[in-house]
Amino acid sequence: MSAWDDIKDTLTTAGRDVSQKAKEVSEIAKLKLDIRSKEDFVEKQYIALGAAYYAAHKNDTDSAKAEQFRIISEALSEIDRMKKQVLILKGAAECPKCGAKMPEDAAFCSSCGTKMDDLFEEE
Ligand SMILES: [Zn+2]
Repeated sequence: MSAWDDIKDTLTTAGRDVSQKAKEVSEIAKLKLDIRSKEDFVEKQYIALGAAYYAAHKNDTDSAKAEQFRIISEALSEIDRMKKQVLILKGAAECPKCGAKMPEDAAFCSSCGTKMDDLFEEE
């Protein structure tokens, strides 16, 4: 084998190694993406399962999960309260009696307690 053949052979082998390595790296990257996407999927299933379980058992006070149900219920109430607060701040409606802002569909003024329906009927 000539020196040139030797060099050619070495270069060919090196080229093969590089392309093989690149192929492996891209395969690993693809697998990692697939793993992450499957993990996300499982995570979403867990959440859906948990929400369904909560909905079905939230009133089971003797459940071993009663404490968790309680803190979830509390958090949901808090979310509800904050959503109402956003509506109030947006000023969807105003009490004609005291001027307090509240959600448009509020039955009573949250500030003075005036029944909103009555006020609208009077007008
Ligand atoms: Zn009012």
